[in-house]
Amino acid sequence: MSKRDYYEVLCVARNASEAEIKKAFKRLAMKLHPDRNPDVENAEEKFKEAKEAYEVLSDAQKRAAYDQFGHAGVDPSMGAGAGFGGGGASFSDIFGDVFGDIFGGGGGGHSGQRVYRGADLRYNLELSLEEAVRGTSVNIRIPTHVECDECNGTGARKGTSPVTCTTCGGHGQVRMQQGFFSLQQTCPRCHGTGKMIETPCGKCHGQGRVEKQKTLSVKVPAGVDTGDRIRLGGEGEAGENGGPAGDLYVHVNVKPHPIFERDGNDLFCEVPISVVTASLGGELEVPTLDGRVNLKIPPESQSGKMFRLRGKGVKSVRGHHTGDLMCRVVVETPVNLTKKQKQLLKEFEASMKDDSVNHSPRASSWLDGVKKFFEDMKS
Ligand SMILES: [Zn+2]
Ligand SMILES: [Zn+2]
Repeated sequence: MSKRDYYEVLCVARNASEAEIKKAFKRLAMKLHPDRNPDVENAEEKFKEAKEAYEVLSDAQKRAAYDQFGHAGVDPSMGAGAGFGGGGASFSDIFGDVFGDIFGGGGGGHSGQRVYRGADLRYNLELSLEEAVRGTSVNIRIPTHVECDECNGTGARKGTSPVTCTTCGGHGQVRMQQGFFSLQQTCPRCHGTGKMIETPCGKCHGQGRVEKQKTLSVKVPAGVDTGDRIRLGGEGEAGENGGPAGDLYVHVNVKPHPIFERDGNDLFCEVPISVVTASLGGELEVPTLDGRVNLKIPPESQSGKMFRLRGKGVKSVRGHHTGDLMCRVVVETPVNLTKKQKQLLKEFEASMKDDSVNHSPRASSWLDGVKKFFEDMKS
């Protein structure tokens, strides 16, 4: 079969511009579209011919080769012509390609409903440190969409069922003509579902789903911490058109505690002690999450010293490890002193200067350091 001249196929002059070629092809494609003009004879053959011509003439390099050597200049088995001879692509595939390229959107409408998995939901759960450490069970209320039980999710009133959309014929897509362009749009009537509800369900107003507050009991395991999440499979939003429900993720956030700070499985707390206790030693009551325990403070304890209470921390949510409670003692300077107390302190200080023992080794070594610093600066 001898091929027709490409310019002749597209009905354009040999010196036609790129825009003219494109315009001519669109006009032709429109004329040969099977949905639009089902009666055109040999529409498929003609369309293939037009597409091949367009693909060569719209490509500057191929067009130059064609101008110089004719059909021999462009190998139909490569590039432009590929797919036509092989018989692999069906007519609608080809149309889909072209219309997809030029007009956007697929060639034919998709009928049949799509199934969507319901959305995952997130719930932020605030817990006290005690609840997080010991574990708890909480009831949470979450707004969610559930399948309407009145219409079983179809959206149509009981006893009726959705009918094929008359606007798009069930395709879910409609074509609009705008000048040379044929635009494909989601059907405004059925919003792409291809189905229409004549008498909507009174309960869900045709949505097929209703919003509902549901109460769920969530078991929070002992040892959870901020950032942990608990997954409740299938407790998210209902799916659409019979799709599976999403999941619910409960995100744990542990509120700050007035006494304890948590770092992993360890707990930290700061314990103020008096100068006298720090100097002479003594016993203190310190809080733990399981109640009070006694902490022995040895004599001459400096401010900032950390005491570790083994196993008084948090039991890990994963595994059996239990953290420690770290108590940092802070020496508190006495305030609101009476005249007499001030006098006693002065006497006390004086007494320390009198004897030959160094009562403040830290201060002494610091003073030595300062002295050396100034000497080094001078030299
Ligand atoms: Zn429709
Ligand atoms: Zn309903």
